[in-house]
Amino acid sequence: MPELPEVETVRAGLERHVVGRTIESVTVLHPRPVRRDPRGPAGFAAELTGRRFVGARRRGKYLWLPLDNGDALLGHLGMSGQLLVQPPGRPDERHLRVRFALRDDRGEVELRFVDQRMFGGLSISPGGAELPVEMAHIARDPFDPEFDDDRFVGRVRLRQAGIKRLLLDQTLVSGIGNIYADEALWRAELHGDRPGDRLRPIQVRRVLAEARAVMGAALHEGGTSFDALYVNVNGESGYFDRSLHAYGREGLPCDRCGGPIRRQEFMNRSSYFCPVCQTVPRLRRSHRRD
Ligand SMILES: [Zn+2]
Repeated sequence: MPELPEVETVRAGLERHVVGRTIESVTVLHPRPVRRDPRGPAGFAAELTGRRFVGARRRGKYLWLPLDNGDALLGHLGMSGQLLVQPPGRPDERHLRVRFALRDDRGEVELRFVDQRMFGGLSISPGGAELPVEMAHIARDPFDPEFDDDRFVGRVRLRQAGIKRLLLDQTLVSGIGNIYADEALWRAELHGDRPGDRLRPIQVRRVLAEARAVMGAALHEGGTSFDALYVNVNGESGYFDRSLHAYGREGLPCDRCGGPIRRQEFMNRSSYFCPVCQTVPRLRRSHRRD
């Protein structure tokens, strides 16, 4: 699953290469990625042909491309989806599913949706240019200028759930995935099971600041490694290999105290933490539930 920095890299690439261009044709090579469209592949293609992309926007890890008629094309990248911008004539990718031929006075390019497993897809959101209804429930991400830190801190401190679960709650804050949550918590020296309502405001602010810092570093890397005419997202990032302190480091020494990093089960996934720097909270004796 791509995380926010990778999706932002894609968004920035789409803004540069796709916005302003008109869709000359749409070729749906496999019906599954456009399964959300009740008109079927031909209707999907007809609806988009002749339209022009006027923006490339994102909320959390969700992307959309506003169109000149007020609708929007939504990209759901799922587990393995990629949006590529390629020159015409470049050989098809093995798992190419949908091709858009685009043109403006800069010339022609193709926007290609490539997806091996096809959990993702493309759909049209009527009237969705500003904010698609499909994304209205998703909170702003920590880099959004309108993200409200005070409101986030207040909402976290009303909840009994662990802080990691709250960081992943897309209605509170979007864009923080499993890896960045673990890294932010390690940097903030907080265990992910610490209940929101037991944290001081300064602790919540700290973990939010650390999430911004760790994702900001990855955003910077994504920006610098971006190839001029190649937009790609696949959930892999060189950043992860070099800069992680907790995630994926079970048994390796903590970069702060030298003790071994531990792994625990977390919502069918894993959490990594340092039991010395990130003290495991004692169990709440209360009978209240979150
Ligand atoms: Zn440690």
